[in-house]
Amino acid sequence: MTVALLLARAGIDVTVLEKHPDFLRDFRGDTVHPSTLRLLDELGLGPRFAELPAGRLERMRMHIGGTSVVAADFSRLPAPYDHIAMVPQGDFLDLLADAAAEEPTFTLRRSAAVTGLLSSDEDGSPTVHGVRYRRADGTEHELRAALVLACDGRDSVVRAAAGLRPREFEVPMDVWQVRLPVPSDDARGAVVAHFQAGGAAVSMDRGTYAQVAYLIARGTDAQRRAQGLDAFRSHLGELLGWSDDVVGAVESWDDVPLLRVRMNRLRRWYRPGLLCLGDAAHAMSPVGGVGVNLAVADAVAAARLLAPTLRRHGTVTTADLARVQRRRILPTVVTQRTQHGEHEMLLRPALDGTLTGVPAPLRAVGRSTLLQTLTAHLGGKGLYRERPPAFARRVSAPPRP
Ligand SMILES: Cc1cc2nc3c(=O)[nH]c(=O)nc-3n(C[C@H](O)[C@H](O)[C@H](O)COP(=O)(O)OP(=O)(O)OC[C@H]3O[C@@H](n4cnc5c(N)ncnc54)[C@H](O)[C@@H]3O)c2cc1C
Repeated sequence: MTVALLLARAGIDVTVLEKHPDFLRDFRGDTVHPSTLRLLDELGLGPRFAELPAGRLERMRMHIGGTSVVAADFSRLPAPYDHIAMVPQGDFLDLLADAAAEEPTFTLRRSAAVTGLLSSDEDGSPTVHGVRYRRADGTEHELRAALVLACDGRDSVVRAAAGLRPREFEVPMDVWQVRLPVPSDDARGAVVAHFQAGGAAVSMDRGTYAQVAYLIARGTDAQRRAQGLDAFRSHLGELLGWSDDVVGAVESWDDVPLLRVRMNRLRRWYRPGLLCLGDAAHAMSPVGGVGVNLAVADAVAAARLLAPTLRRHGTVTTADLARVQRRRILPTVVTQRTQHGEHEMLLRPALDGTLTGVPAPLRAVGRSTLLQTLTAHLGGKGLYRERPPAFARRVSAPPRP
């Protein structure tokens, strides 16, 4: 939606095909980081964003065994981009879609599932010319395009149809997500991650409730459910230090959806006529809650690098598409390596019961406000900034309160 908005603001004809009738996504990527907050202001969307129901997270705290550590302090970043906003992803996407709909060259087709690609095979090198898609009524359609952007997430149909296969990286966990009442001031305005030998859980203040991710060892969903809901509730309560009344809000296994974690990356993000962005190019671990923000940054880079050529020539070359990958590969690799480091340093030992205390790097961060600012800077703003192109900018908004 971000790349569509920016390209439409460049006057380029853009059609977004979305397989669902709406953008409602429970528990998916609700964190909007400082880099994205700044982008929204630059696009003139800050005031509209400020009206959305948002939680405000200023600190990432970890309780490891009996020790509490501040791992990142966003409140030390320059205002107004000094926090993570927690916004339901559906509201955020609706905001972007509404802004894009103000452009005469933008079209959004909902309930339109892409099923395959239109391509030709000239000189043994397949070139993409558009997509096939199915509407909710079962009718089949074709849409020809100078460029197909695969933004269809980690199970990308478009990527598979193009014969692109990501390299998978091992992850130690899957996640159960639950909603609980916020029990105490300690859990307010913060992401609090709890690690012990034998388990891990992360709570995020969502204003009227706490969103809690409970980590299980990868592939153990069925086995863990077979141990019963009481065992889960009591372990969750023990990890978070929350009472039976609070964790009792989980009434059945229907309240505990499984989210399978994946971390992968394409070697090549493009084919002639096609470019993968966001999770379609690189699925991220939920560690740090950065996936949405990386996808948004990919989108800004793609629009900035491709719009001038698309406007001038009505098409792009693979060299143009390669420039987008070159621009975005470093933050992607660095983020995935950092996530891998956290998996191995903290998550795996917690889940397999070998965690013995606060790992040395985290102890150092916990003692230093400078390092807490640095981790907030890297986590919240990324390795470098993706500036929106001049054609996409709108009157800058007043600073967020
Ligand atoms: C457990 C878990 C928790 C996470 N928590 C966070 C978090 O807190 N913060 C964060 O930043 N990131 C988080 N992430 C990662 C984040 O969700 C993704 O990185 C991010 O959503 C990627 O954005 P995207 O636009 O590339 O793909 P998606 O957000 O997956 O969007 C893909 C879109 O394409 C549509 N689509 C799919 N197939 C088709 C098709 N065939 N035709 C048409 N449309 C199609 C989908 O309906 C969807 O709207 C989490 C991930 C997991 C697994």
